[in-house]
Amino acid sequence: MLIKANSEEIQDFFSDASYLRGGYAARVAFPETVDEVKAILAQATREKTPVTISGAGTGTVAGRVPFGGIVLATDKLNSIKSIVRDNGGGRAMVEAGVRLIDLQRAVESEGLMYPPDPTERNCFLGGNVATNASGARTFKYGPTRNYVQRLKIALPTGELIDLRRGELHANVNGQVSLPLPSGQVIHVQLPSYQMPQVRKHASGYFVAPGMDVIDLFIGSEGTLGVIVEIEVRLLPKPEGLLSGVVFFDSEDSLLAFVREARERSLANRLSSSNRGNSPTVSEGSVLDARALEYFDVESLRFLRQKYETIPTKAIGAIFFEQETTKSTEDSLMNDWLGLLERHHALADESWFATNEADQAKLREFRHALPVLMNEWFARYRQRKVSTDMAVPDEAFAEMLRFYQDALRGGDLRYTIFGHIGDNHVHVNILPRNDEEAAKAWEIYLQFIRRAVEVGGTISAEHGIGKLKREYLRELYDEEHIREMAALKRAFDPAGILGRGNIISEEFY
Ligand SMILES: Cc1cc2nc3c(=O)[nH]c(=O)nc-3n(C[C@H](O)[C@H](O)[C@H](O)COP(=O)(O)OP(=O)(O)OC[C@H]3O[C@@H](n4cnc5c(N)ncnc54)[C@H](O)[C@@H]3O)c2cc1C
Repeated sequence: MLIKANSEEIQDFFSDASYLRGGYAARVAFPETVDEVKAILAQATREKTPVTISGAGTGTVAGRVPFGGIVLATDKLNSIKSIVRDNGGGRAMVEAGVRLIDLQRAVESEGLMYPPDPTERNCFLGGNVATNASGARTFKYGPTRNYVQRLKIALPTGELIDLRRGELHANVNGQVSLPLPSGQVIHVQLPSYQMPQVRKHASGYFVAPGMDVIDLFIGSEGTLGVIVEIEVRLLPKPEGLLSGVVFFDSEDSLLAFVREARERSLANRLSSSNRGNSPTVSEGSVLDARALEYFDVESLRFLRQKYETIPTKAIGAIFFEQETTKSTEDSLMNDWLGLLERHHALADESWFATNEADQAKLREFRHALPVLMNEWFARYRQRKVSTDMAVPDEAFAEMLRFYQDALRGGDLRYTIFGHIGDNHVHVNILPRNDEEAAKAWEIYLQFIRRAVEVGGTISAEHGIGKLKREYLRELYDEEHIREMAALKRAFDPAGILGRGNIISEEFY
């Protein structure tokens, strides 16, 4: 097994897209087999050495940033073990270090689709499962959790568990009994909180009455075990796709457009779920957005650095995607154009794509903004100040106004963009120095408190990591955090794994 200890060679493993500074570790181990992962963990537990699990390091909340101990890098666990077709879709079995883009390409070449699509496709599947990643397509298809069928997980003690969806559930009192290969049984009491009722949620351990135990590990941010292998569910690849970046010169019109596109899409889904189906690839001629993404006026100001053809009078834009077939493509295009006209979009100056090459350009446009934001934080050497809150449907318009009122006309640069279909936009506040950063974090706290007040979550997709654990106390009581810590202890008695992620170390 490759082990690197030369500090220059391992520097990259001490940071991620959060830009949190100060990470350090004695060495980085690159296991190539499950047995090697188990051996590293068993030894670390015996010696009480902290272990931080590293995926691709695209996380934004410092989950993979180590503060001592060793790093377990999953880079060499990178084989796609199988892709199998079955009725109406398929399954893929992959190791944790497979890059999302490699899985997507492999399944697409088989005529299949893996729906979760966090904008940054260089992330690893293990990282995606550990953060329950979402993305633009989540509006239609939900988060990573919805596609995970089976997980092989190496626990901190070195035991390997193999969980298949549907096989093991918590009882009605929230107790879980998990048999281990050694014959021992781990007994766990689930925390007593209720998760917020929002479309996306990635704040703390997943807890629900009678839940499937596999769900506890999805979104557990490297604190309960090392995910070594993952089986995911696949859907058939849609025949065609229509996408657009559409510009507006009035915010009221933009929001009315989103409301109608959203309501019509959700109505379509409701009728399909009433027939007992989970979201399926669109084949009908009904308007059904799979992505609805927002860019505010400040986001467009940033993007003009790279995209000069953004109309000068645009105050905002929406990126949408709609699945089509040869027979529905024209009528759906007309439907979308009708919707745009009704809501006074700048349709002539908007951009549409019906082939893969043009679609890649629109996706690139969508991706460019978070990249520009990350470059800003790196340039000014500031920790990332980026909200990730989602709120219930009825609270979204008010929440957006709250963000705007706090920032408009002030000295701080900012952008508001993201997953408006899921009531989940990212507000990036962009400090140029420590003084501005302090102000930004004050505003951030106001946003968190307001989101919680209206029934929202503090992280919808990026997770808590080390950056946001203090804010978790705004969502859950101290007692709930103690319950999470007790749950972690049951799996990780020596407290070695993912130290400081989700739960502050004072609770260990
Ligand atoms: C430009 C940009 C855009 C992004 N857009 C989105 C988006 O739209 N939606 C979204 O959800 N996210 C987004 N992200 C965040 C990021 O891509 C996701 O959080 C991703 O899932 C992280 O995967 P990773 O492999 O990089 O994990 P890392 O950053 O390496 O690790 C993330 C966490 O997972 C743990 N972990 C990693 N591998 C394992 C494993 N095998 N077992 C157990 N724990 C593990 C780590 O310890 C850490 O706590 C974006 C990031 C960037 C930079």
